[in-house]
Amino acid sequence: MTSRPTPAVPVALDRRPVSLLKGVGAALADKLQRLGVESVQDLLFLLPTRYEDRTRVVPIGALRHGDRAVVEGEIELAEVVFRRRRQLLVRIRDGSGFLTLRFFYFTAVQQAQLQRGVRLRLYGEARRGTLGLEIMHPEYRRADAFDAQRVEDSLTPVYPTTEGVQQGRLRLLTAQALDAVDEGAISDYLPRALLADLELPSLVDALTYVHRPPPGADVMLLASGTHPAQRRLAFEELLAHQLSLRMLRRELKRDRAHPIVSDGRLVSALLGALPFALTRAQERVLGDIATDLACDSPMLRLVQGDVGSGKTVVAAAAAARVIESGYQVALMAPTELLAEQHWQNFDRWFRALNVPVALLTGKLATRARRSATEAIATGDVSIAVGTHALFQEGVRFARLALLVIDEQHRFGVDQRMALRAKGAHEGHYPHQLVMTATPIPRTLAMTAYADLDVSVIDELPPGRTPVKTVALTESRRQEIVQRISHAIAAGRQAYWVCPLIEESEELDYEAAEATFVALKGALPTVRIGLLHGRLKPLEKERTMAAFKRHELDLLVATTVIEVGVDVPNATLMVIENAERMGLAQLHQLRGRVGRGAEESTCVLLYKSGMSALARERLNVMRETNDGFRIARRDLELRGPGELLGTRQTGLLTMRVAELGRDADLLPRVQEVAEVLLAEHPATIAPLLRRWIGGRERYGKV
Ligand code: ADP
Ligand code: MG
Repeated sequence: MTSRPTPAVPVALDRRPVSLLKGVGAALADKLQRLGVESVQDLLFLLPTRYEDRTRVVPIGALRHGDRAVVEGEIELAEVVFRRRRQLLVRIRDGSGFLTLRFFYFTAVQQAQLQRGVRLRLYGEARRGTLGLEIMHPEYRRADAFDAQRVEDSLTPVYPTTEGVQQGRLRLLTAQALDAVDEGAISDYLPRALLADLELPSLVDALTYVHRPPPGADVMLLASGTHPAQRRLAFEELLAHQLSLRMLRRELKRDRAHPIVSDGRLVSALLGALPFALTRAQERVLGDIATDLACDSPMLRLVQGDVGSGKTVVAAAAAARVIESGYQVALMAPTELLAEQHWQNFDRWFRALNVPVALLTGKLATRARRSATEAIATGDVSIAVGTHALFQEGVRFARLALLVIDEQHRFGVDQRMALRAKGAHEGHYPHQLVMTATPIPRTLAMTAYADLDVSVIDELPPGRTPVKTVALTESRRQEIVQRISHAIAAGRQAYWVCPLIEESEELDYEAAEATFVALKGALPTVRIGLLHGRLKPLEKERTMAAFKRHELDLLVATTVIEVGVDVPNATLMVIENAERMGLAQLHQLRGRVGRGAEESTCVLLYKSGMSALARERLNVMRETNDGFRIARRDLELRGPGELLGTRQTGLLTMRVAELGRDADLLPRVQEVAEVLLAEHPATIAPLLRRWIGGRERYGKV
């Protein structure tokens, strides 16, 4: 047998399969693979979720309720008793005090071992019980002589649930992996100067620390996820996600798109016919869009604007530019109601300019649907407004050049990718304009939407009076009915929004129905409509149209009216069970009023006994109408996960980083991403493999 020379450079851990580690057979390798662990590096990036301190033996007298600790002592008494259930009680004592161990499940062998006089070393969580401090079902072993040396020499990591792979096994494996790390088998992609600047440790130090925190490590700090070792890893993870979206963007920008060149005649005609002038913010955003459209690579632009800031007309002006150049536009909305409303607006605006607009939703009758589909395919219609139905089988665009997605937090990146593919023809991809009414702070936007350019409409149309918001307990319902009656007598209209009950359309509908009946009884002369998700599209449309034409005074609705519905004469909104709703939703709902010059009011009805968090939400609503401020508070209260909705699923399943907690790292993450893209492109692929692997990666490297 020839002995092979030891390689000077160890094989990098991302190219060493776990099966090379001692103790990993085919069965274990299989289980590990199911946890996403294939290489030794993957194993190291399976990070502990918490830690146990088994580095020292704690005197029993020093134990407090809730402590998890190693203790050692001699058994003084062991007996099986019946207190509701059969149980084994074992009293142990060291020099400083005594402690009871309680076993509900025990074998005869255990019972025989646990005899008076035996010394035990054990680990568990101390709780105050009927017999003083006790530990239920501790881990234990015999300790024949007191041996302070034989404790763990680091905190014990506890790894995430690992289906059939035992914690002890994982610790043995990570120990081997850490040895390899010490030999320099893992690459650190972060520049040293940056780490020094941020006062963060090297990768090797960070990994060693989180897998084996030394005795005396600050467990609370580790639990909060803000230890420098964790922040170092969080930084790298955020960087990987940022790079992933930036790579996606690069890839999309390499596509070809039809450059839109127009002299703006149609845009001027459209805007000239409106009863108002654009705000400066709208003008500016339209300028951004026109510049993007003129390029031969696809526009990828997100327009953020508070509710009521006038995004629709911006989209219409962008559409006019594209149509004038001879191409088609698709406008997609998240709900049928919203699609219908957009269609009405667009139809009204563009009919005057001789530009045909089609509506295409899932619930159209077959014939209407067929004719819309045909007109889209032949190019007879220039604008198609609809829901997801726009991009289903059988829909083909003759020459689509602009895709507008409204209220985008309901669509994911992958959906946008699918739409892009459907809109492609002859190697050209549509420009994308994405509009959202969930304004988020700039750094967060640049992280979550790193694949998009962002424009902000940061100004509301003039003459709006802020909505006055009050919070009242439900018991004051009578007064509110009076208020509605007055508003309606003064020629105004009102909404009454019923709560979302456990996400059930059935129950929502019942609640809305019951309120509808009750209000009809209380306000016999008022014309009341009912709108909920179970109505047929045609009925919904009729009710909505009637409310718009002021043939209805009061609209009782479920949260289906949440987004986009626009009736400027409505000046009063009552929201029931407001304490159950999130800030973003409340703000959206409230945005349905305050759309005209008349002062509007929003009444938040709550049930008594709400949580502190719910109270805080209602306070925020009372204090401000500013969507950006509300979003910032929302971010503080809930974290970015829910704020961003389902779109950024990739960002919500991070291992160490948390957008809310680690927000202060984001500006530097963006800077470093720039540097790597420009100067060290070769590090990007391995970084993405390390943190994101094959899953949820959008950009190809
Ligand atoms: P959102 O940004 O919430 O989608 P909309 O596009 O629905 O807002 O616009 C809200 C209302 O404001 C609509 O009635 C719209 O016609 C009107 N509007 C839009 N821009 C202006 C403006 N510059 N001046 C006055 N009213 C405007
Ligand atoms: Mg809108």
